[in-house]
Amino acid sequence: MQFKSYWHDTSTPFSQPQNGPVQGSYDVAVIGGGFTGLNAARKLAKSGVRVALLEADHVGAGGSGRNGGHLNNGIAHGYAEAKAHLGAEQAHRLYHAFDHSIDMIEEVIAEEGIDCNFRRAGKLKLASKPSHVAGLRANFDLIHREVDPDTRWLEKSDLPGEVGAAGVHGAMLYEKAAMMHMGRYATGLAEAAHRHGAKIWHGAPVADRQHAGSGWELTTPKGKLRAERVILATGAYTGEYAKKPFRWIRHRIIPVGSFVVATRPLTPDEIAATLPGNRTCVTTMNIGNYFRLSPDNRLIFGGRARFSAVSNQSSDAKSGAILQAGLAKTFPHLAGIEIDYCWGGLVGMTKDRYPRAGEHDGMIYGMGYSGHGAQMSTLIGQTLADLAMGRTDTNPLAGMSWPPIPAHSGQPWFLPLVGLWFGMKDRLS
Ligand SMILES: Cc1cc2nc3c(=O)[nH]c(=O)nc-3n(C[C@H](O)[C@H](O)[C@H](O)COP(=O)(O)OP(=O)(O)OC[C@H]3O[C@@H](n4cnc5c(N)ncnc54)[C@H](O)[C@@H]3O)c2cc1C
Repeated sequence: MQFKSYWHDTSTPFSQPQNGPVQGSYDVAVIGGGFTGLNAARKLAKSGVRVALLEADHVGAGGSGRNGGHLNNGIAHGYAEAKAHLGAEQAHRLYHAFDHSIDMIEEVIAEEGIDCNFRRAGKLKLASKPSHVAGLRANFDLIHREVDPDTRWLEKSDLPGEVGAAGVHGAMLYEKAAMMHMGRYATGLAEAAHRHGAKIWHGAPVADRQHAGSGWELTTPKGKLRAERVILATGAYTGEYAKKPFRWIRHRIIPVGSFVVATRPLTPDEIAATLPGNRTCVTTMNIGNYFRLSPDNRLIFGGRARFSAVSNQSSDAKSGAILQAGLAKTFPHLAGIEIDYCWGGLVGMTKDRYPRAGEHDGMIYGMGYSGHGAQMSTLIGQTLADLAMGRTDTNPLAGMSWPPIPAHSGQPWFLPLVGLWFGMKDRLS
């Protein structure tokens, strides 16, 4: 078993990182080379803006190259809950922004010629207990009626043709959801941004940010650069490399570990018994699982597993063992199957699990996708580029306040308590 992301291992690394020191003067500097930062840089460079992107590790090193590979349309929250919390208009706008983010990925892939196995697979939300059916069905009815007619309800008897998981009792199908190879998309975005003129540095963590004339000076171990505007696209990893310059964000973002395993490639008989519908799937449990097939037919099986704020080999291995047990319970015919990859990453949560994008103290930021950013990050990247170019009407999150989380300054000491709470809710549901 390899402790590395399957997406990293099966994609070609970005071929054009800058070799020399970090230096120069730019219109815009982007901090962070995930989908948010890469698409911001691509859009800016394509619009003729002089742009530099500083990535602490390598492009796609964060959540963008470590996720479960699902591009879900619609919001993850129950729609009634979203309407109550945000108001009907904002909930509707946000649902469609998630829809539109997948359309945008499809457009970018076509425009830039990115080969990343994109497919409108559809997503199944699976009722994990008989008692979950009524709530899931009510959510489906509301969504289907008010915001997304491209959804369907599947009875338990419809499921064998879709998924061979044990203990599923009905499902909601989101027809517009998609899947893709996340590593190939990250590399493709970086190559496109470079082709349009963006300079991208690897191994350049921004450690400080100071006013310089009408703009900013950013300091990295490889040198300094100046930029008129700064885009912060550091997601859950904000604070991993420098704390002080990003304090305002760290009071608002909770980094939470999320973990994934990938099996050896399944045989045709195993595919037919496991995921004959070849869609993305997620369960209704709070501490639940999500799964799909990879382009080479591995089962990619993820979940929160443990409530940890760390992802390293030892933490990932502990979570991998929990996921392996979960995989065997969900798909008993695959119990004991070889696990070829085990990895983890950090998810950037907000208190209400809605993302945020805006500007604070000279930083244009977009993050907090709360585990549903593989699609929204492309759209928000474009929004941040627009904001840097003075256009304010493309931000679907405009006007959403973002108060700090009480007693939180970056390290989420309360995660084990949250884990206990959700575990108890699952047991009682
Ligand atoms: C295990 C896991 C499973 C997931 N599964 C899904 C899924 O199936 N579907 C879905 O929609 N979402 C999923 N997500 C969430 C999704 O991957 C993220 O929301 C999305 O990729 C965030 O993109 P981003 O560009 O904002 O941030 P990231 O991709 O995290 O990029 C941030 C980058 O900033 C860099 N950085 C940080 N600090 C600095 C600094 N000081 N200087 C320079 N660079 C810096 C980091 O190195 C990193 O590369 C998952 C996440 C994880 C971890």
